[in-house]
Amino acid sequence: MGKKITLTIDDRQITASAGEKLLWVALENEIYIPHLCAIKEETRPAASCRLCFVEVEGLSRPVTACTQAVYEGMVVKTRSPRVDRLVKTAFELLLSDHRLECNKCPKNRACELQKIAKERKLKLRLTRLQPLEKEVTVDDSMGSFIFDPSLCVLCGRCVWVDQQEVKVGAIGFSRRGLQRKVTTIGDIPLAESPCTGCGRCVEVCPVGALSFTNQAKPEGVAVNS
Ligand code: SF4
Ligand code: SF4
Repeated sequence: MGKKITLTIDDRQITASAGEKLLWVALENEIYIPHLCAIKEETRPAASCRLCFVEVEGLSRPVTACTQAVYEGMVVKTRSPRVDRLVKTAFELLLSDHRLECNKCPKNRACELQKIAKERKLKLRLTRLQPLEKEVTVDDSMGSFIFDPSLCVLCGRCVWVDQQEVKVGAIGFSRRGLQRKVTTIGDIPLAESPCTGCGRCVEVCPVGALSFTNQAKPEGVAVNS
């Protein structure tokens, strides 16, 4: 990492290493910025969830904190009317493709969508958009965990740990646009794929899409929190 620099986030002076991504600098200093898809170890963030917008002094438009490197003298505001509008829209888009049944969900009370809604005072229901109707198949073939695509927010964390961390390559994204989904190669059940059942994908899933079937699940090791 680069030399030590000083920046300001929400009027707080913070020391960081030049070149670090703003999202992680903020989170490490207990300044919350909503995020779902960001992975600290990833050098080329996908910035696909569009939730981590911030204002940087001197820039004409809000930028995503997961892709923005910090520099000496940088001045950041995590909230502004423009940021709040962008985050609200991105959040509702996510909810439009999400089966919102928190009471029945394995992640209820430990869910990143619930956390974002609470932190940013956003409604955890659709107000402007209609829900997308999609046929999905729950994959419980592994026995130790279940994949329910109707709860997936397409953050990509499971795909990243499978491909980049444990290097198995059992799952990936298929299709584009509204049809985009996480699946095995050939769309076969996980038990018939190269999946080893290590459970890392379940540990990093921010919502209820991947969940352990037993109560004695490992402590969640969040890629980011
Ligand atoms: S993933 Fe989160 S928001 Fe979605 S149903 Fe489960 S608890 Fe509710
Ligand atoms: S299954 Fe979970 S970790 Fe994987 S893309 Fe969907 S929400 Fe993200």
